Amino acid sequence: MSVAAGVLMEFDDSYARDLPSLSLPWTAAPAPEPELLVLNEVLAEELGVDPNALAEPAGIALLVGRVPEGVSAVAQVYAGHQFGTYVPRLGDGRALLLGEVLDRRGQRRDLHLKGSGRTPFARGGDGKAAVGPMLREYLMGEAMHALGIPTTRALAVVATGEQVVRETMLPGAVLARVAASHLRVGTFQYAAATGNPELLRALADYAIARHHPAAAEAQNRYLEFYRRVIDVQAALVARWMLVGFVHGVMNTDNTTISGETIDYGPCAFMDSYDPATVFSSIDHGGRYAYGNQPPITQWNLARLGETLLPLIDENTDAAIEAATEAVNGFIQRYEGHWMTGMAAKLGLADPDPQLITDLLALLHAQRVDFTQFFRALARGTARDLFVDREAFDAWARRREALLPADREAVAAGMDRVNPVYVPRNHRVEEALTAATGGDLTPLRRLLDVLAHPYDERPGLESYAEPGSGPYVTYCGT
Ligand code: AMP
Ligand code: MG
Repeated sequence: MSVAAGVLMEFDDSYARDLPSLSLPWTAAPAPEPELLVLNEVLAEELGVDPNALAEPAGIALLVGRVPEGVSAVAQVYAGHQFGTYVPRLGDGRALLLGEVLDRRGQRRDLHLKGSGRTPFARGGDGKAAVGPMLREYLMGEAMHALGIPTTRALAVVATGEQVVRETMLPGAVLARVAASHLRVGTFQYAAATGNPELLRALADYAIARHHPAAAEAQNRYLEFYRRVIDVQAALVARWMLVGFVHGVMNTDNTTISGETIDYGPCAFMDSYDPATVFSSIDHGGRYAYGNQPPITQWNLARLGETLLPLIDENTDAAIEAATEAVNGFIQRYEGHWMTGMAAKLGLADPDPQLITDLLALLHAQRVDFTQFFRALARGTARDLFVDREAFDAWARRREALLPADREAVAAGMDRVNPVYVPRNHRVEEALTAATGGDLTPLRRLLDVLAHPYDERPGLESYAEPGSGPYVTYCGT
């Protein structure tokens, strides 16, 4: 059943319909003076929506949650471990699911708002969002997408015309984002905690149908589903690691069932290689440090496994054994994705684990910029990035011995997987500060640079440079 939503787009509501106890119908707060700041025209086209129509007052009204008659937005409920502590009820405190859109390829995509006002899950929050963090989510999602990494994507950011209270007064905004779905590990935690086995089964069946339909063919569909979530998450975190992305808030409510990156808060890209890299001001223990991301993903997946036990086998011991074996397989899956990716970054046909380990030790010891290194390696100029150049030379000779004969092809292949441009922290700050002050020019330029991360373009040299000094991100979203 599809619900007509005027001429702009048609929404379905399969989530709200199939799992009514996992959301609440809710209405967005009014935006006094909505102003469209950025619109993702390519994504709009992908959704089969005319971008010009979205930029009209009726389109902008939709983008801040004024839904047409017959459409009911909902706030989704979920639980989650936040920095390791279980919170039984989180949910969309300031977000709403407008509905699902079938895109041009027939894929079901959620259209979701963030910053659209308090909901019954708001706890102490004001339900609002500021322009800066919403544009950050837009920017980082687009950068990740252009890098080829699965991610939710922003469709638009609309300033509300309202001021929001943070440490200072800031212009408010609503982000409209598109996701394969908003099913999270935390959604399963919430469903499992209700103690209603039928709800949990309905959620798992919904997730299987939407994201992992092949699991339905397996003898034990829930175990197979679990394995498939483990695999997409192993692939995802490997991709993060290969580009130096630090998510910053890997709580179980920010870990998707689809395998998309979600909820860009205090995330940032690492400059010089260091597994202990942390940007978020609140991550004191380094729980979500760059190098901890694979084990944390596995930890989050273990929490998912716990919720699935009653579905996997009615015999608890057997269920635990099967789920444990599946989650223990994460490391091998992750290593496989990571090693293959590293081999490609280095221009090698096959991974050489010792060569890779030794390289990382060198990069770390000599504080070499992670992104610049791989491009320079393809150019033959990587040596210049090291203080102790003999140490690099010795490593480079070992790599040389393993390279395929056609060196031009090797370099071209490396350039296809090693970005020149990632969202450099000082550039992101500069763009967001200007945008908060009303000047969107630096943001637009940065979006353009990051849309083609693998193509070196003259005049953009400074976008490939790391900033100076330590960088701190704040959760004050
Ligand atoms: P996030 O950091 O965006 O993943 O959000 C974590 C949780 O806090 C979610 O349940 C959000 O809905 C909620 N939350 C974050 N900021 C606010 C806010 N300003 N008002 C209400 N809820 C919020
Ligand atoms: Mg979240």
